[in-house]
Amino acid sequence: LDASGEAFTPEEFDVERALRPLSFSDFAGQEQVLENLEIFVQAANRRGEALDHTLFHGPPGLGKTTLANILANELQVNIKVTSGPVLDKPGDLAGLLTNLEERDVLFIDEIHRLSPVVEEYLYSAMEDYKIDIMIESGPNARTVQINLNPFTLIGATTRSGLLTAPMRARFGISSRLEYYNTELLTTIVQRSAEILKVPISLEAAIEIAGRSRGTPRIANALLRRVRDFAQIKGNGSIDIAIARFGLKALNVDAHGLDEMDNKILATIIDKFKGGPVGITTLATAVSESAETIEEVYEPFLIQQGFIIRTPRGREVTEAAYRHLKRVKGPVQGG
Ligand code: ADP
Repeated sequence: LDASGEAFTPEEFDVERALRPLSFSDFAGQEQVLENLEIFVQAANRRGEALDHTLFHGPPGLGKTTLANILANELQVNIKVTSGPVLDKPGDLAGLLTNLEERDVLFIDEIHRLSPVVEEYLYSAMEDYKIDIMIESGPNARTVQINLNPFTLIGATTRSGLLTAPMRARFGISSRLEYYNTELLTTIVQRSAEILKVPISLEAAIEIAGRSRGTPRIANALLRRVRDFAQIKGNGSIDIAIARFGLKALNVDAHGLDEMDNKILATIIDKFKGGPVGITTLATAVSESAETIEEVYEPFLIQQGFIIRTPRGREVTEAAYRHLKRVKGPVQGG
């Protein structure tokens, strides 16, 4: 289990699917985002038009893919799913686009990782529902323009900052998903436990929720693991004792920080005197990619007040020293 809480085995994939909310009413939190989306969907449905192209951004596991599926359900259309790195050539994209029925959703995960040629190819599709395709080859090769059915592109990205300006400008709707508070995560854990048919006490649900890095996917992953402990080491139901026991065995700390979170904080304190330290230097020191640190770890550490970003790099806060029980050394240079 890593900080993104990704499920690994096919069985876990099925469980993850079972836990995924299917309608607006199943989806907890992100009220502002949801309120707007419901109105846009109703309006699009009433006019019989495709929903405007929609961009979701925010850290992994907060519900971007879930929302894309919910939108397709609420629009009563099909959804085709792909991702930026998978779409190698414009031809791959052309195949998908020409198969879309009227008002269908095309979901592109990690849209910031589209290659520039594919991205450019997408522009006219998004703007005018038209694409150029190459027919025949050799001396007879020529391009013809074909019309697409009106469709909705839903893009998801962990890094809206990496999207090009022309790409960003083509989304009529853009929503940022935020980390969830413990109360919301508690309701998500309770809902998931019900689907998994495992009894759980309120106290245990709160405990799991509080240690989930503000992330529903992690909350569900921890619940599944704790359920294992309850079945093997307990009587099958999850009470506070078995929850604590399981979470301890999984190395999840009281703030829900995982090993890499703690390693990042400890490294800034121990090797860089609390910072500031540049992201690439930090990445090398903790043996993780700078991209992953920026996308997955840092946003939560910043939101929790353990790290601040300064023009000269990342610095830890007093809270980080307290959390790791380190004593702050003398401040350098004055
Ligand atoms: P992302 O695409 O942002 O990485 P996902 O949409 O795949 O995240 O969400 C991961 C899992 O977390 C989903 O399978 C779903 O079970 C759960 N989840 C996410 N958001 C919510 C929510 N608001 N309410 C209930 N469950 C959620």
